[in-house]
Amino acid sequence: MSKKFYLFIALLIIGVVASLAIYLQFTPNPSASTIAKPPAKKTGYQPYKHKNLAPYNGPVEHLFFHPLIAYPKKAFRGDFQSKEMDKWFVTIPEFHRILDSLYKRNFILVNINDVYGEIEKNGEKVIERKKLMVPKGKKPIIISIDDLNYYQENHIDYGTVSKLVLDKNGEIATLSVDEQGRKVISKNNEIVPILDDFVKKHPDFSLNGAKGTINLTGYEGILGYRTNVKKYNPATRQFDLDNPQYQKEREAVKPIIKRLKETGWNFASHSYHHRDHSKITLEKLIDDSTKWKKEVESLVGPTKIYVYPFGASIPAGDPRIEHLYKMGFRIFQPVGSQTYEEYHGKMLFIDRRHADGIGLRKQAHLFTDLYDAKSILDTKNRPANPGY
Ligand SMILES: [Zn+2]
Repeated sequence: MSKKFYLFIALLIIGVVASLAIYLQFTPNPSASTIAKPPAKKTGYQPYKHKNLAPYNGPVEHLFFHPLIAYPKKAFRGDFQSKEMDKWFVTIPEFHRILDSLYKRNFILVNINDVYGEIEKNGEKVIERKKLMVPKGKKPIIISIDDLNYYQENHIDYGTVSKLVLDKNGEIATLSVDEQGRKVISKNNEIVPILDDFVKKHPDFSLNGAKGTINLTGYEGILGYRTNVKKYNPATRQFDLDNPQYQKEREAVKPIIKRLKETGWNFASHSYHHRDHSKITLEKLIDDSTKWKKEVESLVGPTKIYVYPFGASIPAGDPRIEHLYKMGFRIFQPVGSQTYEEYHGKMLFIDRRHADGIGLRKQAHLFTDLYDAKSILDTKNRPANPGY
């Protein structure tokens, strides 16, 4: 080979390296461009700017609800499920009264993701309270809604709305079937639109625009959209029927999720199948959480929050909770009647308090800091004797 040839090869290599360097320098990094925030879009939702903020280290309350009973006559018809509705749900007037009481008592809504965060300490990741700045005199509270999925047989048929929709102004409303069988679009019969309106009227009730956390299962879809890949088969008692609608339903729910996120709502996992976690096997839990990720997280985005079905928890150190940790969950929430935080280094357990018929009827003394249960209870719509 001639010297000229080697020189040609060397120049070629230098040329390729140089042009590659120039290319990389002037080509935007694709991951950086997706991280960069797009220009602020007008969403019509501007968080209130609070003054007199001070660091807050006291307790952060957490109150959770189920979907509201929009049609009490469907709910309270005197059978087994009616009793369940009375125990675990609240009516529209009750929800309004609870909000009024919380506001009057100087509570302020906060986003759970602004309260707790994962930080690195001595090379290990731990979950801790974040520095929370709250207006002086206000007490932070997290509100969440479990099972905002709208299961047909035990929710919709018993008087909840059917789904969340967007109204003609692009705001969250509900679609439901009233007691006369007519289809209704409304903003007055479910927690999301009622709370949206309440914060519109009382913007100082929300810190940084926070509304609440929506805790979703997946086996019957989410928010009233049947996004589940398989349906329940009564013949085999398994979820082994194909749901031909699921792709269409996934597309249909996306604008609802987008609007919820724009207006202060966030999401958490309530497992896929809503099975009792105190008895669930590791194998079943792996299947359950994999389905949740595939069918629900793929729509609502990742979350660190895991809300136990039936409030039944898994102890620290158990292989099942280690699996959930591996799946990305850090904050685990059973149900309790008092505010309670238990730090386990990389995980955090927090009890949530329940706003429901049992609490209003039987446990008034446990909620006196939040409301006077006697004046909240909807005696007009609830049965005089609930039978429990
Ligand atoms: Zn639940």
